[in-house]
Amino acid sequence: MGGNKERARERREQRLQEISLLRTIPYSDHQRWWSKETIAVVTGSNRGIGFEIARQLAAHGLTVVLTSRDECVGQEATRVLREGGLDVAFHQLDVLDPSSIQLFVDWIRQTYEGIHVLVNNAGVNFNVGSDNSVESAHMVVATNYYGTKNMIKAMIPLMRPSAAGARIVNVSSRLGKLGGRRNRIEDLNLRRKLGDLDTLTEELIDRTVATFLQQVDDGTWTSGGWPQTFTDYSVSKLAVNAYTRLMAKILSDRPEGEKIYVNCYCPGWVKTAMTGWAGNISVEDGADTGVWLALLPDQAVTGKFFAERREICLAVRRDDRALASIILWWAHEKLGISVKG
Ligand code: NAP
Repeated sequence: MGGNKERARERREQRLQEISLLRTIPYSDHQRWWSKETIAVVTGSNRGIGFEIARQLAAHGLTVVLTSRDECVGQEATRVLREGGLDVAFHQLDVLDPSSIQLFVDWIRQTYEGIHVLVNNAGVNFNVGSDNSVESAHMVVATNYYGTKNMIKAMIPLMRPSAAGARIVNVSSRLGKLGGRRNRIEDLNLRRKLGDLDTLTEELIDRTVATFLQQVDDGTWTSGGWPQTFTDYSVSKLAVNAYTRLMAKILSDRPEGEKIYVNCYCPGWVKTAMTGWAGNISVEDGADTGVWLALLPDQAVTGKFFAERREICLAVRRDDRALASIILWWAHEKLGISVKG
């Protein structure tokens, strides 16, 4: 067991070294689909991973809109980046406040007419170490899932048509992996429905998080078969991952030249306020895959989950699907119960 952990640590460190090297390789002219006129919005970018994503995108030559729910803190963060010679504008944005979102939308329309990149980074988690309190579950689900959804819905009409396609990157977490071996929803049928694009709907995702929150309110969540670690946070990110796949499917109907690609990624365990600076990854490395996804040269990557610049399978594993089919068949044949798949 210890040996496995050690090998996993070595593999991660080696990959991070590779990524640090990859980051030093400049994009060639034919890869650079963006310019100073390319507008990128990053939510919750006054600090942590969001601030670093804003910094790296601006360093690549995009115009970045740094946003923060606290006006003063956001202005200060913007000043720091501007003093470094970067093109960074600021606007207040609270992803949970409809009037703040509306003011932001109006300002973007007037100032830039639209945007090319949206990074949904704003997020909260109130547990550290082995804590697993659900005291703030409503806030966690609201910010991480509904905040992301609010911004996607508000910004899609503002996403500018381009040959390279507009991009949405959702900062998520491996803790929200549907098909993870550990820390997953126990209900195989629900997992299967959430993992299958034919059965995945916005209503199903909303209903799943609402069921969890209802169980939090009535004190039954511990026996509800929810992920065991950072339960509220894991449920919220599971919803983000599912919504990413759903939106990718919905947006795939758009004609060439008006494409919007939407992906999500896990930054790893990063040294930020969220982890009490206890992570094992720097913000530079934590921001890397988000920036890489936002800038992917002209290729249609959408509805995927990444970590360390590699795709990780989000959906239910094949063995889960096979097992689900066997259980449904058995229930039907032996018990005469017909379960709708
Ligand atoms: P952080 O330092 O705590 O930053 C979170 C940011 O989100 C802050 O700017 C915060 O603003 C903002 N925010 C929270 N609620 C908001 C709201 N309602 N409207 C707008 N902004 C809001 O955390 P971080 O580690 O950089 O996390 C960034 C993202 O990475 C999150 O989505 C997180 O879930 C994800 N992530 C982090 C880790 C990790 O190890 N750190 C791992 C996996 C995923 P204030 O400053 O006003 O609070």
